[in-house]
Amino acid sequence: MSRLHHTGHEARLFSAFDNAGLVAQVPTVFVDCGPDANAHPVLPLRGFLKCLEASNKLNLVLTASPATYAEFWDKYRPHRPKHPCFTLRTDQELAACVPILLHADEGQTLKKKQLMILQFQPLFGAGSSRASGLNYTGSSLTSRFLYSVMAARVYSKSKSETLLNLTEHFANELASLCADGIVLGGRCYWLIPIGMKGDWPALCKLGQLTRHFLRNKSGEGKMVGICHMCKAGQRDQAWHITDEQHMDTLHQDAGVPWTTPSPFTRIIPQDPDKKPEFYRVDLFHTLHKGVFGDVAANAVVNVMDFDLMGEGSVPVKLGVIFEDLQKYCYDQSLQLHMSWFKGADTTSLCLYLESKYLTLIADNPEHEHKGYFCNILETLKAANVPGFDVF
Ligand SMILES: [Zn+2]
Repeated sequence: MSRLHHTGHEARLFSAFDNAGLVAQVPTVFVDCGPDANAHPVLPLRGFLKCLEASNKLNLVLTASPATYAEFWDKYRPHRPKHPCFTLRTDQELAACVPILLHADEGQTLKKKQLMILQFQPLFGAGSSRASGLNYTGSSLTSRFLYSVMAARVYSKSKSETLLNLTEHFANELASLCADGIVLGGRCYWLIPIGMKGDWPALCKLGQLTRHFLRNKSGEGKMVGICHMCKAGQRDQAWHITDEQHMDTLHQDAGVPWTTPSPFTRIIPQDPDKKPEFYRVDLFHTLHKGVFGDVAANAVVNVMDFDLMGEGSVPVKLGVIFEDLQKYCYDQSLQLHMSWFKGADTTSLCLYLESKYLTLIADNPEHEHKGYFCNILETLKAANVPGFDVF
């Protein structure tokens, strides 16, 4: 693989896998996505699931027991009471309803060209590095299943219809699995998409969202709002006030965040009152590269401001903290890329700072700003709650 990469012959990798008998026999189907992509390849969901069945690998999709599925729907019901699965499926059938998430990512090809990736992921899995039940452990090839990809040049600018046509094919297949189910291993299962996750730009494009993070404009013109789930950022609706009463107001009569619903919201069965929520918050950009990054940076600045880890110039103090951080990460087997790759360093930095603040507070019991330090520690603890560690 390395030689193929260095010699620029990555394309030969697939035939090498094929020759070694390592290619799954998933049929490829070509669908019409419009004039610029009238025979676009997809991996049809039913074909994919049948392939898993034939290869004795259904455990990759059917990742939990019937009892767990039944318990999940029981807990989910109060959140989406009007979801059609509660009227269409009996309690016994709900134990065979597999909750899945759709995943979209606008990534880059090896040649640094933009590419939209569409896939799905069973909700349950072998856990994450710090919590059970989630589906992040192991190779992503065994937990996220590709439907199709599309190069940005095919759908960029005035050609967005092409991508929406592809999502329509995806949505139709999902709706069919949701309504009609599929017999696998002698039993009927229904795959129920409960949301779409991905980075904000991909979600905005695929959800045809009109309210999103790029709309943080004040003053002139219409203040459309920055959040697809509430009125935050609209005129007289401050997004930075987070007390409960204000948040409640923001959610009243927020309306839908689109002029035309996307194929996902239009075609996939879901609670009609909760359609905007189908698009899940992009935790990676909002937390790891956003709020938690700011929390970590402020916690570091505070250590320097109060000379909690020694005195000296800013570079000297930063050097001391960095050396300490490196040692902590080494001892705890945590990754530290220092390139902010995938925001993973935020996780390591917040864990380090929580441990550091515990020590600093214990070492400075009479400090005049101890209350402030304790608040920072509580914030770091909240950021380190297992479950946020999802990337
Ligand atoms: Zn909101």
